[in-house]
Amino acid sequence: MTAIEILNSAGLKRTKQREAVISALSGANKPLTAEEIYERSQNAALSTIYRTIDTLLEKGIIVSTTIPYSDGVFYELTANEHRHYAICLSCRRMRYINVCPIRETRLDDFTVTSHKIELYGYCGDCLAKAPAPKSQGRAAANRKMISNAL
Ligand SMILES: [Zn+2]
Ligand SMILES: [Zn+2]
Repeated sequence: MTAIEILNSAGLKRTKQREAVISALSGANKPLTAEEIYERSQNAALSTIYRTIDTLLEKGIIVSTTIPYSDGVFYELTANEHRHYAICLSCRRMRYINVCPIRETRLDDFTVTSHKIELYGYCGDCLAKAPAPKSQGRAAANRKMISNAL
């Protein structure tokens, strides 16, 4: 769906700011903070972006989410909600994963309606930068990175 179609289906008027926020989120490969949305929407004041975010939240077009090990509140399109992230424990970068690790879970006496999964680890950049002394090896270096991150 385009930004205009999303606004139409929510019964919201088209404005440049609303289109800009939706486009920023649909073009991103991860949930964005208000500041990141602002950076990606040209010619809109940060206060306007916040107001626009509030309107879109109210209409259920976007959802806010907090992500462990990452500071701040992130926003994503409601249509994207069933996506999972991989988060690097070293640089804290995150990105969407295209697959769902659990498509179907059956539990006795419990009906699953939704789930939330985040994967933690190290991105390629951080692994390449990680010091791996011969005596310790990469596993020990990774353990050190994990204890630094926690
Ligand atoms: Zn990283
Ligand atoms: Zn899933």
